[in-house]
Amino acid sequence: MTEWEAVIGIETHVELQTKSKMFCGCLVDSGDEPNTAVCPVCLALPGALPVPNKEAIEGILSIGDALECTLIEDSLFYRKNYFYPDLPKNYQISQYTFPLCLDGRLAVDVDGEPTVVGITRVHMEEDTGKSTHIGVSGRIHGANHTLLDFNRAGVPLVEVVSEPDIRSPEQARAYGAELQRVVRTLGVSDARLEEGSMRFDVNVSVRPAGSDILGTRTEVKNVNSLRSMQRAIAYEITRQIEVLESGGSIHLETRHWDEAKGATRSGRTKEGSEDYRYFQDPDLLPLHIDEDWRKRVHARRPELPAAKRARYVALGADRSTADLLADAGDLAALFEAAVSAGADARTIGIWLTGEVVAYLRREDVTIDETGLSADSLVELAGMTGDGDLSATAAKEVLGGVLAGEGTPSQVAEARDLLQISDASTIETEVMAVLDQHPDAIEKIRNGDSKPIGFLVGQVMRATGGKADPRMVQDLIRRKTQA
Ligand code: ADP
Ligand code: MG
Ligand code: ZN
Repeated sequence: MTEWEAVIGIETHVELQTKSKMFCGCLVDSGDEPNTAVCPVCLALPGALPVPNKEAIEGILSIGDALECTLIEDSLFYRKNYFYPDLPKNYQISQYTFPLCLDGRLAVDVDGEPTVVGITRVHMEEDTGKSTHIGVSGRIHGANHTLLDFNRAGVPLVEVVSEPDIRSPEQARAYGAELQRVVRTLGVSDARLEEGSMRFDVNVSVRPAGSDILGTRTEVKNVNSLRSMQRAIAYEITRQIEVLESGGSIHLETRHWDEAKGATRSGRTKEGSEDYRYFQDPDLLPLHIDEDWRKRVHARRPELPAAKRARYVALGADRSTADLLADAGDLAALFEAAVSAGADARTIGIWLTGEVVAYLRREDVTIDETGLSADSLVELAGMTGDGDLSATAAKEVLGGVLAGEGTPSQVAEARDLLQISDASTIETEVMAVLDQHPDAIEKIRNGDSKPIGFLVGQVMRATGGKADPRMVQDLIRRKTQA
């Protein structure tokens, strides 16, 4: 039996959220009436000339910089020629040789297993218009007619091409998720998979484990969720292994993912790049990015998700908490404020990603709509640290603070949750319990520590659960020493 290894490379398209389109002044806004955000350039009327959009160039440079690419000083625009009704020019302006960014990397982590995925290139293109096929099928086959909306034609599009470094559906998903986080952190795109502002083409092949020759790949186009990507890849791996083991062979082809069937189906055989008759666009000059510009982009790089997660761990948050927090903008801000005011990072992290997230979901509110602030978190953490509140009571107080019942001390008092941490009160209670249980004391003195838990329980009962259990236990140990 051959052992198989999967090899996966991902092409990701990201629509940039610039003010205007890639080569004209038309506004980028998906909410417009069809065919209102159009002009001679993006409709390709004769004689109209493209002018590159600086904001879009900056956006792609910042993606390349975040992915640790080399930013290329002189890059070129090409024409990728093909006919399709949603493509008014009959070619797409794209990059081919000499793209803007080359040779980067993105680190991803699956269950604590780090992998670095190479980035082959990041290049600039423009989006096509949108076809709506009218008919029962909703697809081009079986449609009565098709409506075309060119508002999207010419919207700046970035393509991020990965090396075939990915080895499992889970790694692919982690790569997609991390790339989405990076793009969002840079603020260049909302990267919404369900709305198509980010989409994946996944290339999958298999080979005998240990081989360093690549197998023939198939390409699953336009996968529009992380879950679908993971499922489509898993399906392709199994399908390809079955084909190969039954003596068949894999053909380079485009396939489509059918979410309902949970299967890919064959599309067209894939064009080679020679079919597109790429040539340099004579309407556009080489794009020169001088060193100053490259440096400025790098200097503006915000803290990336991986760096943020590492910083939260260094502050004392648990790994899983740090991952969750770094993804949650408003919670992360609260976390940072509370921790820099001296609160314990681990406790704050657990509250925020536990009780607070659960509350927000349950009540369907945002953090601003609750009574929670960094100050109240600091106060609550202080009360817990001082033994005024048990861990369970702290969670209850947190619930009250979220619901707007007041500050932690107000809520704790109103709900009668404050622990007794006054030493003399606790001592009185402990002595009373010890008086009633001389037999337990005897056992402890003879080296059996089991009754300690029982005695602590008795004191907790006598105080209505409000004595600080650590203090109670310490005292019992001291008083029962021989
Ligand atoms: P095309 O546009 O023809 O699909 P690209 O070079 O843009 O070609 O993208 C190819 C993608 O396929 C890259 O992400 C690359 O890593 C991946 N890839 C190439 N060969 C293989 C292979 N044998 N198995 C899996 N992925 C592959
Ligand atoms: Mg491709
Ligand atoms: Zn236009």
